[in-house]
Amino acid sequence: MNSDAASPRGEQKNHMEASANGVDRSAEADAQTPDSTPRWHQIFPVLTDAEIDRISRFGAVRRYAASEFLYRAGGMSPGMFVLLSGTIRYTARDGLGHRRLLRSQAKRGEFTSDVGMLSGKPGLVDAEVIEDVEALVIAPEKLRALMIGEAELGERIMRALILRRVAAIERGQGAVLVGPPDNERLVALQHFLQRNAYPHMTLDEGGADAIALLERMTPRRDDMPLVVCPDGTVLRNPDDGQLASYLGLVPEFDPGHVYDVAIVGAGPAGLAAAVYAASEGLSVAVFDCRAPGGQAGTSARIENYLGFPTGISGQALAGRAFNQAQKFGAHIAIPVEVKGLHCNVYPLEVELASSRRIAARTVVVASGAEYRRPAVSGLARFEGHGVYYWATSIEARLCRNETVLLVGGGNSAGQAIVFLASHAAHVHVLVSGHERGSSFLAVFRTAVASEMSC
Ligand SMILES: Cc1cc2nc3c(=O)[nH]c(=O)nc-3n(C[C@H](O)[C@H](O)[C@H](O)COP(=O)(O)OP(=O)(O)OC[C@H]3O[C@@H](n4cnc5c(N)ncnc54)[C@H](O)[C@@H]3O)c2cc1C
Repeated sequence: MNSDAASPRGEQKNHMEASANGVDRSAEADAQTPDSTPRWHQIFPVLTDAEIDRISRFGAVRRYAASEFLYRAGGMSPGMFVLLSGTIRYTARDGLGHRRLLRSQAKRGEFTSDVGMLSGKPGLVDAEVIEDVEALVIAPEKLRALMIGEAELGERIMRALILRRVAAIERGQGAVLVGPPDNERLVALQHFLQRNAYPHMTLDEGGADAIALLERMTPRRDDMPLVVCPDGTVLRNPDDGQLASYLGLVPEFDPGHVYDVAIVGAGPAGLAAAVYAASEGLSVAVFDCRAPGGQAGTSARIENYLGFPTGISGQALAGRAFNQAQKFGAHIAIPVEVKGLHCNVYPLEVELASSRRIAARTVVVASGAEYRRPAVSGLARFEGHGVYYWATSIEARLCRNETVLLVGGGNSAGQAIVFLASHAAHVHVLVSGHERGSSFLAVFRTAVASEMSC
């Protein structure tokens, strides 16, 4: 794991996991089938023998015996496996031991993995060999080469890998968060995981699983929220960096490597620079302290982006750009803050918050805008639990059927009004004369607003 993120306070695995093959029989009824899964043929395409021949130069044939795991949820995988013979069974699992049979693959030409494989991220499901498997194993860097060298096939594989991640996010089987619903840190972690497209779910504190976990972990007040990682490890009140580091989301950086381009910020400008530079064959590193997409990633709907006549959500736009940059081999490190730029040496050096330096011939600073905050006394006390600076599905849930006070009169405020209106009981809008037309935005739940001097 990257040393630029602090190491988390991990607890031992909880061993609540079911026995090795202990998939809930009742869960088998839920297994994915062509009838129950929209876009089945796009999610699980089958490569023909001719196509397998074409891509065989990107991988190596390997054999695995029954009951071996090709990879496990939360663990690394040597690459994408293209099945030549045998049977693989996929099981979704979370760190609390809930397992759900997803499907089995037995057809020659089916392949494993989701979009995280492009950058060698840990798997999200267990892939177990049921009948001896022979497979073509394609390592992440070769997979990226395949995407570019075999464009038509690459497009089909890329679409399948992206749709599988979307399905995993919908299942929510990944990290499990436990804490009071309006806990500031819980909300921040939900944002982080959502914006970084990592599957997760939040347990209701009153539910049986949460109660059992809380009894076992006996957390102190400042230990909340708890995060149960897919391997069963429980983190107490991790920050974004600790969580990302534990989940294997931050890439390793070779200290001796000089990048052609280092980019500060993974908003639309930074990701665009990454795609163009990496697609020209340059080596690219991108750093962002929060999430891909920058401000645009928080937009409910972007209508004026070139090439999307029906509009696109900011998160979807950011996800596409992120995957595109990964496809061309950009190393994207999130959350990693850049705190300095040293131009008195060449290659230039980008200094990270950990004080580590990354060398690059060119540096693109795409760090975007700094938010202004309303001049309201006591504001900081409520930020993250009652006062929010965006209006996403997370805030919509927190404000459901409540009265909301929205401060601002620019585009973002307009979008937030339309979005929140279908969730909140009532949305009041406060626009001071000189704010009209600016991009200033703050959302207050009114129970909180009444405690502050607005
Ligand atoms: C709610 C909302 C809705 C919007 N809707 C639209 C719309 O419909 N149409 C439109 O055209 N525009 C819209 N915008 C504006 C648009 O999102 C911005 O113009 C655009 O995101 C700017 O892109 P950027 O890459 O320059 O900067 P940003 O999007 O601000 O990205 C900068 C990135 O740099 C990172 N960063 C900053 N400092 C550091 C550091 N030291 N180390 C590491 N990382 C750092 C930040 O975390 C951030 O991710 C909207 C903005 C908001 C907030």
